[in-house]
Amino acid sequence: MMYVSTRGAAPKADFEEALLAGLAPDGGLYMPETWPQLSSLPASPTGAYAAAAAHVMTPYMGGNPGEAELFALVSDAYERFADPDTAPLKTIGLDLYLLELFHGPTLAFKDFAMQVLSRLMERALKRRGQRTTIVGATSGDTGAAAVEAFRGRDDIELFILYPHGRISDVQRKQMTTATEDNIHAIAIEGTFDDTQAIVKALFGDAEFRTRHALSAINSINWARIVAQTVYYYTAAAKLGTACHPSFSVPTGNFGDIFAGFASSLMGLSMGRLVIATNENDILARTLETGRYEPKGVVPTDSPSMDIQISSNFERLLFEESGRDADLVNRAMADLKAKGHFDLPPATLARIRERFTAWRVTRDEAADATRALFNETGMIIDPHTAVGVVAGKREQERSGGSMVVLSTAHPAKFPEAVTRATGRAADIPERLVERLQGRERLQILPNSAAAVADVIARHAANRPQA
Ligand SMILES: *Cc1c(COP(=O)(O)O)cnc(C)c1O
Repeated sequence: MMYVSTRGAAPKADFEEALLAGLAPDGGLYMPETWPQLSSLPASPTGAYAAAAAHVMTPYMGGNPGEAELFALVSDAYERFADPDTAPLKTIGLDLYLLELFHGPTLAFKDFAMQVLSRLMERALKRRGQRTTIVGATSGDTGAAAVEAFRGRDDIELFILYPHGRISDVQRKQMTTATEDNIHAIAIEGTFDDTQAIVKALFGDAEFRTRHALSAINSINWARIVAQTVYYYTAAAKLGTACHPSFSVPTGNFGDIFAGFASSLMGLSMGRLVIATNENDILARTLETGRYEPKGVVPTDSPSMDIQISSNFERLLFEESGRDADLVNRAMADLKAKGHFDLPPATLARIRERFTAWRVTRDEAADATRALFNETGMIIDPHTAVGVVAGKREQERSGGSMVVLSTAHPAKFPEAVTRATGRAADIPERLVERLQGRERLQILPNSAAAVADVIARHAANRPQA
């Protein structure tokens, strides 16, 4: 299996190259040259999430690793999930289900991919005798998942940048209480956009990038998408082959829902893919008008979806334009020059065949959280609530079974949950322990040079192996 870039000007890469690079050298995103076909999971004992994961992911790896080794790797990754079912499916209404993806160590679905990504990277670096320096920016959940996944890994340094004073206490402590030497939490005196600009600047400096072997772990990394296809399969298998469920996905960077789309291209039979957005509704507007146009970000109760640039949408544009890299390049040039691009009508029509988008307001999400709590006693997080509203709306329109992806544990967002239901969710023991350690962080000015200096000084002081 080889990978091509959505911008068409990068050499083909194998899985391991795509994994370590993240972004293709021409600035595009890696896509598999062809889609492996798998219409359903082989019958397997219940609770066998790791077996399903190895089965679904193996064709993407081109034999490196093979299925047996991959099975050992994913078994180790998912062993630490608190629910024996890993991704349990709960009924919350008539033909309406919640797919709980928050039983990992940091209580959000990001653990599913990050735990696998860190192990695949460590394996690849060992094989090649290389080291890498990961630099990432986070507004919360990604950083927590990355710290948890990469702590103590050989040959990998993780520098994670977050906006000083602008993330929740829980999110900050999840990053700053790791005691391992390879983890570096850096608070930047600026906004999330500033932290992202610093990361971009460091990657844009070719000499620095090569000298420190920088790699990226944000949601454009293909390995993350592959790991996320698995739970679409396990959820569909639980409902039975006659079901063809639709999926409602709380969406920000379009990574999680693209994994659902990838599953459908692999032959998994499903209904519709519902893009659930909050007030930051660029994708809902795009599906309505055909114009992709970022506007200012408004803060909501579902911060992990407060995004106006949905990076993985580029993958959808590439696939649904018949893999037209010229078109993708023109769209990205338009976006830069004019602040928007227009989808060709044929591409828009193809996207609408599979996807529906629903915009959900803060009040609608809170009302749904309250209603579900009153009916069932269940507490959902504010991201999941957006998914529930969108999923119900789509179910009213097109019928059928609806699976809502529950992307975070409600204990991560106590303020919004308490406002909606009058009570907070119980904090799981593993999170309580995590939050008690001593915090270790550096506060730096909003300057790429300051961050570069910290990375360079650390590299210079590292004992040579
Ligand atoms: C990251 C995240 C999302 C958005 O997922 P994307 O893959 O970026 O679309 C939704 N909910 C939660 C809780 C998240 O952490």
